[in-house]
Amino acid sequence: MSIECDAIVVGLGPAGATAAYELARSGQKVLAFDKEKFPRYKPCGGAVSAKVNRILKFDFSGVVEDVVDAAIFTYRSKRNLFIQNDTPIASMVMRDRFDNLLVDMAKKAGAVVMEGIRVSGFKEDISCIYVETDRGKFRARVLIAADGASSFVWRTLYGTDLGADLRETVLTIESEMSADRNSLEKLRNKIIIDFGCIPWGYAWIFPKKEYLSVGIAGVKSRLDRGIKEYFNDFLKCYHDILKGGEVRNQKGWIIPEFNSNTKRIAGRRILLVGDAGHIVDPFTGEGIYYAVRSAQLAARAVVDGIGKDDFSAYETDLEKELYAELSAAQKLADMVYSNPKVWYSLVEAEPGLIKKYLDVITGNSSYREFVQEIKSYPRFKLLFNVVKGWLKGLMGR
Ligand SMILES: Cc1cc2nc3c(=O)[nH]c(=O)nc-3n(C[C@H](O)[C@H](O)[C@H](O)COP(=O)(O)OP(=O)(O)OC[C@H]3O[C@@H](n4cnc5c(N)ncnc54)[C@H](O)[C@@H]3O)c2cc1C
Repeated sequence: MSIECDAIVVGLGPAGATAAYELARSGQKVLAFDKEKFPRYKPCGGAVSAKVNRILKFDFSGVVEDVVDAAIFTYRSKRNLFIQNDTPIASMVMRDRFDNLLVDMAKKAGAVVMEGIRVSGFKEDISCIYVETDRGKFRARVLIAADGASSFVWRTLYGTDLGADLRETVLTIESEMSADRNSLEKLRNKIIIDFGCIPWGYAWIFPKKEYLSVGIAGVKSRLDRGIKEYFNDFLKCYHDILKGGEVRNQKGWIIPEFNSNTKRIAGRRILLVGDAGHIVDPFTGEGIYYAVRSAQLAARAVVDGIGKDDFSAYETDLEKELYAELSAAQKLADMVYSNPKVWYSLVEAEPGLIKKYLDVITGNSSYREFVQEIKSYPRFKLLFNVVKGWLKGLMGR
């Protein structure tokens, strides 16, 4: 046994790096592993919503490629709805640089970070947890599992399925696309979101300094073709800004979206955070905010609970703060994606509602408030009730 510590963190994406940072700052002895060496590539749109600025305890403007304060929504690349927000909606980052900064902050706070080490086993005991890696065995009071969408810890606890309910696994492709200066300038400070190009999902075009991040995502069980085909169609026939661009670094991945059947964050000494715990917005696929926030809640539960050897406050805090929000996001996803065409026509008639939605992204409002607000609009109320009845019959939700 080489090292003993208070907490072991597996995975150093935004969730693990935040957990390591918060724990080390609070004086805990933390050991954190990642199988990769940083900076490492991560397929991601790299949109860090403005609500992340409210919770991260340090400035990350040094790694921001663009700040977005407007959105262009389209339906199958037509019917443009341009919405200008009064404040920034999101910061665009490259995940290699953003994640590397978070890992550096964890190191500076005092966490012992070991890169290029894969965790391959763990065992809970009455008073501690043993963690196996390809460089030996380690012991801690608690394990924070932050090992991402195909989490080894999740699979070991729950079997090979990625979720309790595979309906909600989202397939996605992300690519970096070259664009001329003119096109890049056209999309400065703006994002494009396209509905209707894929069932139960959307496509995006995000601005980066030197190119565009272009991607598509859709719920696996709803797709009647391969995800690549939807992506190629989106590239070929849609937005002008993509014409003539060259696709680089195209990567497929999964997004483990939250759904109310998701198994709870388990184990007396194991706290799953971020993607490993399926704590991802089921409407947008946004995961960075939820990775950071769930890690902060987990770290708080560890700091407060280590004396009593009780970390259950994490689950309670998640229920109160994040699950309630994500359940409301799921309601919105059901409503929009079950009939995107009708939904799009409705928001064209009430564009003010999109601005209210942007308040959710910036953290000025919540999904719960937004869904309530929608229900108060007569034409949305009708749609909401139709979808609710339909879902009840179909899925028993
Ligand atoms: C194509 C795509 C686009 C996306 N776009 C956005 C977006 O624009 N905005 C947004 O907010 N979210 C987006 N997301 C979601 C977001 O990327 C994730 O929610 C976020 O990365 C979750 O952070 P995490 O720390 O939980 O996991 P990760 O960032 O995946 O980090 C997990 C870490 O664990 C390490 N690891 C895995 N297994 C082991 C092991 N056995 N031992 C040691 N280390 C291990 C990995 O190397 C990795 O570094 C997107 C996702 C995809 C796939």
